[in-house]
Amino acid sequence: MDGSRPLQFFTRTMTPCARSGSDATGGDSEMWGGCEECQRLWREYAAATTAHIRLQGKLQVATIQHDLENIARLEAETGTAEKVRGDLREAIRRHEENSHGAGPGT
Ligand SMILES: [Zn+2]
Repeated sequence: MDGSRPLQFFTRTMTPCARSGSDATGGDSEMWGGCEECQRLWREYAAATTAHIRLQGKLQVATIQHDLENIARLEAETGTAEKVRGDLREAIRRHEENSHGAGPGT
């Protein structure tokens, strides 16, 4: 369902801020604290999400075309992709709990 990205932040960065030029520099890699396992899991999760969305799109087309044979197959594949996605999400949460002791908030 989510395919739209706000372009606002893009136009925002175009205005130079001369006051304190120490704001919008990098910081992306710090999100995972340099943990390779986190990066790997998130990358897999992103791939699983992409695959899931792509399958949903194909399923939509098959539904429109009343392609019953493909609908059945794509429904099964979409279900599997959804499960993989959920499993990875769970794996990420568990890894964060076990390896980073991450509680919500702190
Ligand atoms: Zn980690």
